[in-house]
Amino acid sequence: MIKDKVIVITGASSGMGAAAARHLAAEGASVVLGARRSDRIEALAAEIAAAGGKAIAVTTDVTRRGDLDALVEAAVKTYGRIDVLINNAGIMPLSPLDRLKVDEWDRMIDVNLKGVLYGVAAALPYMQAQKSGHIINLSSVAGHKIFGGSAVYSATKSGVRVISEGLRQEMASHNIRVTIISPGAVRTELLEHISEKDIQKANQDYVGQVGVPAETFSRLVAFAINEPEDVGINEILFRPTAQE
Ligand code: NDP
Repeated sequence: MIKDKVIVITGASSGMGAAAARHLAAEGASVVLGARRSDRIEALAAEIAAAGGKAIAVTTDVTRRGDLDALVEAAVKTYGRIDVLINNAGIMPLSPLDRLKVDEWDRMIDVNLKGVLYGVAAALPYMQAQKSGHIINLSSVAGHKIFGGSAVYSATKSGVRVISEGLRQEMASHNIRVTIISPGAVRTELLEHISEKDIQKANQDYVGQVGVPAETFSRLVAFAINEPEDVGINEILFRPTAQE
């Protein structure tokens, strides 16, 4: 059941994180929104409250461990516990390796991989004390296969799958569920941050053609949360039907 759950979402300022926040709040969850763009998450929290839902916004940079601790603490302070953490924040500045975008490699590792680990570190002590919880980590189709310019991004997203499976095994006896969600092409702001213009255009053309809306993710994440506590949805891998 989603109703009355306390759900923390990183990267809630746009795309799939924002769509999931709207959907889960409409289903009766209290949502705790984290991202760097405070104006966006504050506006979203106000929109959810105006619609009769429960939401707070906490400015969060997932590359800072203390920010994730503060995000989870805000959930517990405001709503009494944390039932679900959706480690959704991510970046995808794709480029072929020989363009040596080393700063972008660093940022992908910091956000996509270390950001997920910091989220896990912040939430686990509370979930273990509660003897219940659910951690949902965003991987990608790119965590299953490598395509043009995706080597580092794919490394971070396959790393998320590896960490999640290890976590699932370790947390099985603690009544903590772990779900990997691996989307295919979804129309969001993700491609806006690709600095290599040829790679950006090729991806924009493709996702513009086949991509599905962010609400697809909302339905699927809701499905995983909605299953009874003794059922763990280990991974949801989805693509637009038209995606090869
Ligand atoms: P968006 O770019 O629309 O959303 C990404 C979110 O991540 C934003 O809310 C952004 O917020 C947040 N974010 C980025 N860096 C940080 C940071 N340092 N600290 C906190 N938040 C951060 O893209 P999507 O909705 O598509 O992406 C969501 C997830 O889905 C990502 O993990 C992505 O890799 C994954 N994914 C997306 C696919 C797609 O086709 N769209 C396919 C497969 C996986 P802000 O900038 O305000 O901090």
